[in-house]
Amino acid sequence: MTARAFASSADLAQKEQTLELLAEGVYALTAEGDPNVGAIEGEDFLVAFEALATPVAAREWLVRLRQHTDKPVRYLVLSHYHAVRVLGASAFDAQVIVTHEQTRRLITERGQQDWDSEFGRMPRLFKEPGSIPGLTHPDVTFTDTLTIPLGGERGDLVLRYCGRGHTAGDIVAWLPRHRILFAGDLVEAQAALYTGDAFHRDWSTTTLDAVGALGAEQLVGGRGAVAKSAGAVAAAIAQTRGFLTTMLAEVGAVKARGGTLKEAFDATHAALYDQFGRWPIFEHCLPFDVSRLWDELSGVDWPRIWTAERDREVWDQLQSDGQG
Ligand SMILES: [Zn+2]
Repeated sequence: MTARAFASSADLAQKEQTLELLAEGVYALTAEGDPNVGAIEGEDFLVAFEALATPVAAREWLVRLRQHTDKPVRYLVLSHYHAVRVLGASAFDAQVIVTHEQTRRLITERGQQDWDSEFGRMPRLFKEPGSIPGLTHPDVTFTDTLTIPLGGERGDLVLRYCGRGHTAGDIVAWLPRHRILFAGDLVEAQAALYTGDAFHRDWSTTTLDAVGALGAEQLVGGRGAVAKSAGAVAAAIAQTRGFLTTMLAEVGAVKARGGTLKEAFDATHAALYDQFGRWPIFEHCLPFDVSRLWDELSGVDWPRIWTAERDREVWDQLQSDGQG
């Protein structure tokens, strides 16, 4: 048997980045399943959404953005605490870094372990890792809603907490005037879900209900293509929910009959494979996803901290006899 390469450590092929203008002054950069980022113009400032994994990676995005606008970045909004979304923050020279209050807590509690873990799982995303000056900490946090008036006739950018989901502290950025939603990792379009820090039951029910209730007509998910119609948005949300409810059904059934974690992994893999198996990071994520859901269904409410060591243990237990 050939061992499957750990997580995304063997994924070294560069992805094509595409900058899209979703409305006047509203930008999304997608990257064939790598983490997406965005930016929204105010009258005399910019709001950047997500920061990528390193300042060098973030600067490449800013070079693309600077072909369209030279406004300074006043706010850098980070949807959640994961290293590949936040450690490039210093490149933006933002006046204010904004997160949910729970994201502040998670960075303090486990930011360093998450950095080490994600670097091991996805080394390609950490372009020139030595350029990271340290952990990214927010300047401003909120618990429910934070509204940023964009000035002039531009309307508001509304930052919203929709409930526990991909992490305890995900937020979305909503432009009601354009009905455009930056959903972070709460919604993925044609990329597998990472649920290693997730709250599957909340996410698959009330949290996605709240995301859907916004009525977006364009949606930028955490990874994958932009959904560009109300129907495409609904499909992306439904597909995300389906991934979660399939996991809940499969892991729940194995648990109910007294089976093992490995059996839960194999059953979940089989149930998801036809629809999701060829999408980015499916094999990478699934051992961590099933491990977390197993904990959640065992009564572990607050996710255990992933460390580089624990990553390898879970991988060896669940994925090492891989078909690759
Ligand atoms: Zn994430």
